[in-house]
Order: sequence, then structure tokens, then C-alpha cells
Amino acid sequence: MYQIEPLSQKERDQLLIELSDGQRAFVIELMKRGRRTVFSNVLAKDKASGSDEDDIEEVAAQWELLDYLDAGETWQSTSDLHCECGRPLRYQYIVQNEKTREIKKFGIKHFEEHTGIPPHLAKDIVKGIEKIDYELDEVLVKLANGWTLADEGIGDIPASIEIPNDIQEHFDHDVPLLDRQVQRLRTRISEQSRAEKRRQQENEKAEQEKEDRRQREIAAERRNLMSAKLSSGQQVIKSNIQLDAKLQLGVLVYIDSLNGTEFRAIDVCNDLVKNHGAPKKTYSTGTLRIYPHVCLFLDALVKDDKLELSDEHGLGARAYKLNDAVDLVEVEEKIEETKTKPEVETETDQLSLFEF
Ligand SMILES: [Zn+2]
Repeated sequence: MYQIEPLSQKERDQLLIELSDGQRAFVIELMKRGRRTVFSNVLAKDKASGSDEDDIEEVAAQWELLDYLDAGETWQSTSDLHCECGRPLRYQYIVQNEKTREIKKFGIKHFEEHTGIPPHLAKDIVKGIEKIDYELDEVLVKLANGWTLADEGIGDIPASIEIPNDIQEHFDHDVPLLDRQVQRLRTRISEQSRAEKRRQQENEKAEQEKEDRRQREIAAERRNLMSAKLSSGQQVIKSNIQLDAKLQLGVLVYIDSLNGTEFRAIDVCNDLVKNHGAPKKTYSTGTLRIYPHVCLFLDALVKDDKLELSDEHGLGARAYKLNDAVDLVEVEEKIEETKTKPEVETETDQLSLFEF
């Protein structure tokens, strides 16, 4: 932020001289444009407010700023700009009455006298003009100090950002931005980057959901294969345990795709939720409601000599171990297999309990 004192007329003139022709023409144009805007805003706003003094307001609303001229530094000796009353002027305002086409030329001090614009509006206009002049000072001081956008902590402006016209004009003429423009640009950049981040997160989420769906499809396929395998007569699925046959199949699929020989019951449960459509419901302790039923099913497999209980560290850490000697599904075939097959698995490194 540039907190600057308003410049004296002399300082302002001096700094203006140091500008390139293009820069100077641009800031002068800005000064004119700013004044025109102040005039029409103040007068139009007052018109819209529907004051009692309708007549005066109507008169006021008819005036439009045509031009704003500067006689230059040496105006006192050379100026041919004059107020309506004859006073020589450095800065001359030229306004026209839209209704009567009457044109008036004056200095800001006699503005009220020569146009009949009510004093409170005249004051607002003068105040608006001072603000414009202050902005000119801001630009001049920044230029003198070699201001850059990087000073404001703005490096590259992302290409996707639509730069407002007034800001682009400053860029085009190599003229520093006003603080209020920097602020607007900064807001736009941060909004843009937030939007981009949001888009990216949404994309990642969609990708993740797609991947999860794919995993569930694969899991469903493996359950089908497992089910086909089991229909060869084995009573692996337990009808007396309150766990869907589908989820019991899921447990078998999980065990079948293990990389090692040990696993925790809690991991089986999480996999059932993630890939096999098990309900996510939990007890107030946070434990999944399927957990005890999954443990019962695994215990049944222990009873059948398919698994062994591993070191047991309380219910939450309940773990199991594959019984190397037996196959969950086809005991006899597996034993035969272990006799005839070489040590090293041919297709994958995974421990394959089932033949597919
Ligand atoms: Zn005058």
C-alpha cells in the first residue's frame, strides 16, 4: 500500500514532465475520464434520489462535463483559459447543458456560481475530483519509485485470468496500478486459484470414485469365481452366522489375495466395506457392526482347521494365520498339489489358496 501525501502542484508538474509521451497522454486522459464520471455519477445519483427540490435537481442533471483543460505550468503568464467571470485559469472545466445546449467554462472554485448546481452537489463533485487527483498522485509517485507488480507480491498473472479493461489499459501504457486495482487483481487471482483447486479436488474425487467402482467390480467378479469354486460341494459358507453369504465370500476372496500368511480381522472388515458392499454402520465405540460376525466366521474357519488364531491382543487386534497345510476350499487337491508342485509359484507371488 502506498500511503502518500497529496503532491503540491509543482511536484505534480515535475513528475508529469518525467513521463514518456505515451504515459503522460494516458494519465491525462484518465484525469478527464475520471472527472466526467464524477460529474455524471453525482448528478445522476441525485436525480434518482427524487429530492423535493425537483426544479434545481433537474437543472443540475442537465449539465455534462465536456472537457477539462490544463493551461500548463506557466498559465499565470500565458493562459488563455478563463472563468465565466474573467479570471485566468490553470484548469478549466467545460460543461454543457443538455437541454439548452448552453456551454459554460469555469474554474472549479466558481463552479457552483456559474452553473446553478446546488452547493451540496458541487461539494460532492469537488470531493470526487480530489479523489481523482489523489489517484494521479499515487500513480506519479509509484512511477517515480520504479513500482512493479512484483512489489505487491503478485508475480505472474495466470493466463486464465480475465484482466479487467481498466487494469489492462494501465499495463498497455506501462503505468502503475492504483492500490484499488491491485486489490481487485489480487482478489481475482485468489478466487481463480481457489476455483482451480476446487476443480482439481473434484476431478481427483471423481477419479477416486471411478477407481473404487472398478475395484468393487473386480471384487464382485472374484466372489463369483469363489462361489463357483465352492459349489463343488464344500460347506465353507456358514448359514448359522449372521453375515451375508456374499460377505462370507468376500472374506474368502480377501484371504485368497493375501500377500502374507497373517491378517487382522479389522482389515478384513474394512475391505468388506470398501470392496464388497458391507454396511458401514458402527457401534458407539467406532467398531464396525459386522466385526463380531466376521470374527465368528473366521473362528469357524479355525474350527475347520483352515485357519489358526494368531497372537491375540484383545478383540480389536484379533488376528489370524493361514494353515499352510490345508486349502480352504479343496483340501485334498491342495495337498496333492503341494506334493507335486515346485516351491516357487509360477503365475504370481501371491499365496494362492484356490485354483481358478
Ligand atoms: Zn468565475
